[in-house]
Amino acid sequence: MTDTLLTIALSKGRIFEETLPLLAAAGIVPAEEPEKSRKLIIGTNHDNIRLVIVRATDVPTYVQYGAADFGIAGKDVLIEHGGDGLYQPLDLHIASCCMMVAVKKGFDYAAASKPGSRLRIATKYPDIAAEHFADKGVHVDIIKLYGSMELAPLVGLSDAIVDLVSSGNTLKANGLEAVEHVADISSRLVVNKAALKTKYALLNPIIQAFESAAKAV
Ligand code: ATP
Ligand code: MG
Repeated sequence: MTDTLLTIALSKGRIFEETLPLLAAAGIVPAEEPEKSRKLIIGTNHDNIRLVIVRATDVPTYVQYGAADFGIAGKDVLIEHGGDGLYQPLDLHIASCCMMVAVKKGFDYAAASKPGSRLRIATKYPDIAAEHFADKGVHVDIIKLYGSMELAPLVGLSDAIVDLVSSGNTLKANGLEAVEHVADISSRLVVNKAALKTKYALLNPIIQAFESAAKAV
């Protein structure tokens, strides 16, 4: 049983950094740092446990298809992906931030977002944005972007953006301001539903260790 291979999907950057203490709590230490190594498969101090380094938005896909047994993904990514094939037992309270509506400073958002009005929204999160404005009764034209959303209102591509905000420094540096809270975001453990059954003896202690460590933060 202990020889069963366990594959963990993580993205590099903040998720990897903030997951390290959780892995340590479960007795798992990566053999290399993904920022320094170009390897996409990284071994650990356990012969049967490995990490695969994927884009943050691809984590649910690897786990859903069982190419990884579990992974860690932001709630933003999970909402957009949908939960198919994924068991989501834990909010790990890491990589915390907020999904916000932001506009160019001085833009009268209150007037522009009255029920029945129409707004152009640039975002990497079309489903989250569409649901938010549907709830408000505001019509939206959604423009899908893959990054640097802050630019869109500055060059007239959109009236507003829906994006993740933590310090607000990037908005400020670009003359934008957050005007509405959409959702609190943090990262979740996602487990392949089949693996949870077939590799339960291996997975359960790790989930338990993550849970205790996440509570202690
Ligand atoms: P890239 O930045 O390379 O385009 P990405 O945005 O998909 O890729 P990250 O920036 O590492 O990847 O974000 C991964 C996750 O971390 C996001 O899905 C989100 O849940 C969370 N996150 C994003 N931005 C912030 C932030 N400013 N503060 C805290 N957590 C954040
Ligand atoms: Mg990013």
